[in-house]
Amino acid sequence: MTENLKPGDYVPGKGYYHLCAFPKCADPPFFGRKNQRYHPDCKKRIDAERLADKRKKTKDENKIMEQNLGILEDFYPSSLGTVEIPSKELGLKGFDFNASARRIKTEKYGYVCYVVHGLAFRYIQKHDTIIIYKKDELHRI
Ligand SMILES: [Zn+2]
Repeated sequence: MTENLKPGDYVPGKGYYHLCAFPKCADPPFFGRKNQRYHPDCKKRIDAERLADKRKKTKDENKIMEQNLGILEDFYPSSLGTVEIPSKELGLKGFDFNASARRIKTEKYGYVCYVVHGLAFRYIQKHDTIIIYKKDELHRI
């Protein structure tokens, strides 16, 4: 007898009437606590899916970061902490400038650098180039 019920209606002995908010729910109508949004099983499935999404995102981010690191390693010998390399060249190799990297400011000149594991790079906007450093070289800039 749920035909005349609206979500939020209270039925003594059953609880509050809801429609399960889980998009894949097979049978959305249920009775539960006042603020309950899902069947307990649907809630579990939602939590599991969210966790899987989060893991996948982290995995994807790590993959991009690893690829970026590989490219920085390849280009480091051409830069050696001094020579500017056109950003375009790294871009062509698949370098992702939007990938997450630790942003730091150097002590000496206050340059903004991005650290990727043992390497770091500084973007020089004026020339659209980057300089690649070893992390332990950053103290001199
Ligand atoms: Zn459900």
